[in-house]
Amino acid sequence: MMLLGATTLLAQQRAKNVILFLGDAGGIPTLNAASIHGYKEPRALYLQHMPHIALSETSSTSSWVTDSAAGMTAIVTGQKTDNGVISQAPPAGPAKEDGANLKTILEYAEEHGLSTGVISNMNMADATPAACYAHVSSRKNIGDIFAQIWKPRFGDGVDLVIGNGRKKILESTKEIGVDMEKELLASGRAFYDSVAAVPDDARRVVALFDDDDFDVDAATAKAIRILSKNRKGFFLMVEWDLHPSKPARALDTVVKFDHLIQRTAKQMDKNSLVLFTADHSFDFRLKSGKKGADIALPSAPNVVKKADQPEEKSDVVIGTAHTGEEVLVAAQGPGSERVTGVLSNTDLFGIMLSAYGWSAGKR
Ligand SMILES: [Zn+2]
Repeated sequence: MMLLGATTLLAQQRAKNVILFLGDAGGIPTLNAASIHGYKEPRALYLQHMPHIALSETSSTSSWVTDSAAGMTAIVTGQKTDNGVISQAPPAGPAKEDGANLKTILEYAEEHGLSTGVISNMNMADATPAACYAHVSSRKNIGDIFAQIWKPRFGDGVDLVIGNGRKKILESTKEIGVDMEKELLASGRAFYDSVAAVPDDARRVVALFDDDDFDVDAATAKAIRILSKNRKGFFLMVEWDLHPSKPARALDTVVKFDHLIQRTAKQMDKNSLVLFTADHSFDFRLKSGKKGADIALPSAPNVVKKADQPEEKSDVVIGTAHTGEEVLVAAQGPGSERVTGVLSNTDLFGIMLSAYGWSAGKR
């Protein structure tokens, strides 16, 4: 009877579903400023109160400061690679040859018969979503990246793709001689041009459009409805861009993203691991400001201001580049107790894999 009890406990601790929320460039300084901007106080974001919190360092094999390609590769494959490389091992590089393909957490989920999805308000063939489903030596090869959607290495490939970049992806696949719409239909995927057009009873879907302001909330809710139909479970990655090229908009987006994470975490049953992290931080510094007042934000990153522009009063100094300090990891659900201390970005892969109850096998 002891054995039965232990087995039941073990089963309960496994995650049926994993949802990875990725705030691209959403470093800790940006999260802190978003809390103050949105709520006039620090620590007001839901993700700052999730039960398990850690720091994650984000370097790539070559650099202390990563780009999104190497950053996301580390998170979804558990191995660091060179900047610019999508889920391939060294010596792969944008100006070099291919490296060995690194098996992603999405591919593990496909191999185990789960449903899988990726959502992004950036180009769906851009580095972060691409690292989940594709393997290329250069993130610039948009056509080659997207064409891997219907040539999966495991299972039947990513089931649900919703995001930006329609025009660019159609052009890029055409450039390499591929009829994307034909290939998608042949692979059993319906192709739509908006979130609203995707029916709730859809099974395998690609929805692409060109709209930075598309409703990520609605897309996530729809994705969960569709992916939840698989009784074995699902893996879903939701990326929202937090680069502060428009500072107020970036902080407002953090608050919206945080609401989405809170709603999703409450809605998902106890057998789902919900994770938030960033692929890297950004040069965003709160330098002044009085408590009780909103922080004064520049209209654009300070360093791109033209010399003849009047001096703007701003409490925040924003550069133009990623930075190398640690980012936040926040988590709840089965497996989230391993989110603690100062982690490597590669540790997140193992945390997700073991939450499902799997171990790393042949790649
Ligand atoms: Zn990034």
